[in-house]
Amino acid sequence: MDIALFARHTDYEWEIAPHGAMRVPAVIYADEALIRAMDHKVYEQVCNVATLPGIVKAAYAMPDAHWGYGFPIGGVAAFDPEEGGVVSAGGVGFDISCGVRYAYTGNVHNEAGDSTYCHHCGVKVIGRDWYNLTAWNLDQDGKCRDCGTACAGVFDTKPGTWGARRLPVRLANFAA
Ligand SMILES: [Zn+2]
Repeated sequence: MDIALFARHTDYEWEIAPHGAMRVPAVIYADEALIRAMDHKVYEQVCNVATLPGIVKAAYAMPDAHWGYGFPIGGVAAFDPEEGGVVSAGGVGFDISCGVRYAYTGNVHNEAGDSTYCHHCGVKVIGRDWYNLTAWNLDQDGKCRDCGTACAGVFDTKPGTWGARRLPVRLANFAA
């Protein structure tokens, strides 16, 4: 974006003065390189958020801001219900799994849902059964051993021993 659109308050705080229907300013937190690289839609969307009823102080966008559904992704705003504040059901967006390659079930015993599968060939690359590793099919560069596709993440060069790590707690130790 053009940094001339902003009043720069600090190295990382950029303000857009209220204009049009904006009720409050908009503030983006980012360094200059991030501001320059940001999609202009962030500007439009954070200004739109600033027009919403009941908005408190300012519409904000964090350094990861990018084009969202209504708010920019990385947008933050508070609304006062005493001032007609809105509740937005879809401010940032609806989860359409954009770019999501790995999702897990949690707090249920479900080895299939706890495990990680290669997003290219579907082979199980990390098997998990509760806290135990049951399969490890990543090479030392974090790539699927079957097809060589890199899995997103940071991996050790070999599987560790994770385990349950459950410890007994003696309530008597906490008695007043
Ligand atoms: Zn694969």
